[in-house]
Amino acid sequence: MKVIRRDRLIYSMGPGHKPVLYIDPGETILVETEDCFGHQVVSSGYSLDDGFNHDYLNPATGTIFINGVEPGDVLKVYIDKISLNSRGVVVAYRGWGPLGNRIEGTHVRVVEVSENHALINGRKIPLNPMIGVIGVAPAEGSVPNSTPGPHGGNLDTKEITEGAILYLPVFMRGAHLALGDLHAAMGDGEVCGTGVEIRGAVRMQVSIANNYTFKSPVIESKDAFFFLGSSPDIEAAVKIATDSAVRYISEQNNISWIDGYILASLRCNLMFSQIVNPWKTVKMRVEKELLHL
Ligand code: CA
Ligand code: ZN
Repeated sequence: MKVIRRDRLIYSMGPGHKPVLYIDPGETILVETEDCFGHQVVSSGYSLDDGFNHDYLNPATGTIFINGVEPGDVLKVYIDKISLNSRGVVVAYRGWGPLGNRIEGTHVRVVEVSENHALINGRKIPLNPMIGVIGVAPAEGSVPNSTPGPHGGNLDTKEITEGAILYLPVFMRGAHLALGDLHAAMGDGEVCGTGVEIRGAVRMQVSIANNYTFKSPVIESKDAFFFLGSSPDIEAAVKIATDSAVRYISEQNNISWIDGYILASLRCNLMFSQIVNPWKTVKMRVEKELLHL
């Protein structure tokens, strides 16, 4: 199995990054990932106002060049296994999230992570390991890893988890996949601005999704598809996610767009992925049974 170590990091997605690994579609690879703070925040007394280097925020490991993948293809990323380190951090900081105006300074909680749970302030919470940043080179220019978009990026969507498939549109030959920013736990919205930010490794298989024409990221779980939309503005993100979902519902059932729209209104759930990044991400959940009526 090919392995990429956690020191092969990039901080933006776009052209100009030399691939660190070339793979054939379907190969199993293991990608070690850095945490979103570049491992600068490791103790409870840490202050983001004190020597924190913003240049090392949101590192992603990569890039991975997938042989034979061309612009216009859709990449299929199967997330086989997410392994977490034994310790992560949550950070609340002045200005972050909807209640950030009530916060002064930095509040770090060091979280011990075991097989089954995370321990925060001596209390157990369940784990939901997930990938925060995962994406490909975008259509134009370079996008910092802090920001999500049609190419993926900082999607912070909890359904990007073990056993799921992430579909990403491809804009550049070889796709140039990169990923990082694992979370041991995070809820929809990521309201304080972070999950349990942690180092780890992801075992995955990447191939081409034939017969898919998605123009923005889509996740497939056992029971449902999640159509993602990202934009600086939540309403614009909602439009992207809804449009993407309705298009697929209509195609799969061979019905008109308007009837797909109506079905989405009756049976689909629109949810937040995250509302704290420079672009916000929402998702529409479409049960698989709705695709074969
Ligand atoms: Ca993130
Ligand atoms: Zn994160």
